[in-house]
Amino acid sequence: MEDMIRIEDLVFEYTRDEDQQPVSAIQNVSLNIEKGSFTAIIGRNGSGKSTLAKNINALLLPSSGAVYVNGFDTRKEEQVWDIRQSAAMVFQNPDNQIVSSIVEDDVAFGPENLGIPPEEIRRRVDNALNSVNMYEHRKKAPHLLSGGQKQRIAIAGAIAMRPECIVFDEPTAMLDPKGRSEVMSIIKELHGEGITVVLITHFMEEAAQADRIVIMDQGKIALDGTPWQVFSRVDELRRLNLDVPLPVELCCRLRRRGVEVPDTIITMEEMVEFLCQYK
Ligand code: ADP
Ligand code: MG
Repeated sequence: MEDMIRIEDLVFEYTRDEDQQPVSAIQNVSLNIEKGSFTAIIGRNGSGKSTLAKNINALLLPSSGAVYVNGFDTRKEEQVWDIRQSAAMVFQNPDNQIVSSIVEDDVAFGPENLGIPPEEIRRRVDNALNSVNMYEHRKKAPHLLSGGQKQRIAIAGAIAMRPECIVFDEPTAMLDPKGRSEVMSIIKELHGEGITVVLITHFMEEAAQADRIVIMDQGKIALDGTPWQVFSRVDELRRLNLDVPLPVELCCRLRRRGVEVPDTIITMEEMVEFLCQYK
């Protein structure tokens, strides 16, 4: 499978005032992400997740090492638009991403900057608004919408760029449970349509839905594998100060009490399936 993102021995340091030491945020990270895959990145606060995401989008450039997005080198200034068009980004706070006072204008903003003809923009905006179930709100003012709705507008803005990949940096962190699950189902649909998804999250049940989980700790990759491979390392997760998903925790406790539970249960749905055998 072809790689969407190739990160080679990336080091990133934030430089501050001359008399201060630089802050080392990413230390020699190498990571390849396949086209069409769904990767979750988790890790405690300050572990370097957002810095990594911004390096993928060329918002930050490597202190050393290299990042390639769809084959484009982020260090080459002339490729920055190709990179941002290949890999769009959705951030945590929807209010900081909305630039227009009407929903549909906001979604059109990205494609307009790409110089796309008006009739094609119209089509893209309508499609994007439909895919996030916000078409009926297209004439509204974004500030009148709920947090979840605003985040869906920000996602529509990303979709309208027709990117091959979307990097989401904690897109549900500021949302209520309803908004969270709406945004998660859109993310899963986008992945289903073939878009490469990178999802940074601190919700374990969201990470459990990815094909692959990468755990960051102190600017490095601490664990990398399928959800099952990663979540079965319960002691390691505790050491990294991360929660174990509730269904995994429940399985561990049941096993300790002698109940035979398959070691493939990660999501609540799988747990329900398993328990329903006994009804
Ligand atoms: P995460 O997203 O996992 O919480 P970040 O990538 O935001 O982690 O931060 C990684 C490290 O870089 C932390 O030590 C953080 O304090 C530091 N850092 C982040 N942004 C800046 C900045 N603008 N200037 C200096 N240090 C920063
Ligand atoms: Mg962050």
